[in-house]
Amino acid sequence: MSEGILIVLSAPSGCGKTTILRQVMADLPGLSFSVSHTTRQPRPGEVNGRDYHFVSHEQFKAVRDQYGFLEWAEVHGNFYGTSRQEVDSRLAAGADVILDIDVQGAEQVRRNAQPVTVFIAPPSLTELERRLRGRGTENEESLRRRLTNAKKEMQAADAYTYLIVNDRLEQAVLELKSVIIAERCRRRRAVADAEHATV
Ligand code: ADP
Ligand code: 5GP
Repeated sequence: MSEGILIVLSAPSGCGKTTILRQVMADLPGLSFSVSHTTRQPRPGEVNGRDYHFVSHEQFKAVRDQYGFLEWAEVHGNFYGTSRQEVDSRLAAGADVILDIDVQGAEQVRRNAQPVTVFIAPPSLTELERRLRGRGTENEESLRRRLTNAKKEMQAADAYTYLIVNDRLEQAVLELKSVIIAERCRRRRAVADAEHATV
């Protein structure tokens, strides 16, 4: 069995990444979402172990020092990290693994692996603010911080392999599915070439 594809997804907070991803994962079999560790408080409806591993600062440091994160970063005032062990074992089992991480984390993963990287942008900053307010999960301070960070994050979009603008949701879902399907075909080509080289 060939190893799975590592897919990194980044977007400014409130852009719609979780919404898109949920739909893509429901439609495409063989995808595995890497559950990050975070020190942020759970939002209503979020489930520990499904959306995140919600941990204290002490627990975060213990996991980082004991097992090592593939990447970790401080984002909007909280710590977030990806378990190296979890990602490696899923890739080895042949799953295509999705990392939903910020631009700092994506940069670290690029240094250590060869991920397919996808940046999801909002149609405008005004629309981003409307979505973030509409979601109703952030207080004013957190909302302001996320919007300020969004402008910086957008500047990192050039470093990603693919750019998707989440204007109409169905179109964004279709585009992400298309990227994954195309990358699977590319992987199939590479595996076939490697097999031919050994016969
Ligand atoms: P993120 O995971 O990027 O922080 P969410 O998926 O939580 O963002 O989406 C933020 C809000 O925007 C949610 O209320 C969601 O329903 C809404 N939303 C997502 N995509 C669209 C879209 N294409 N058009 C309008 N609203 C959207
Ligand atoms: P939220 O608090 O809205 O769930 O996520 C805030 C930001 O943290 C998003 O940009 C999200 O992609 C990012 N994030 C989530 N998990 C990780 C992680 O493990 N590592 C890094 N670097 N960023 C993460």
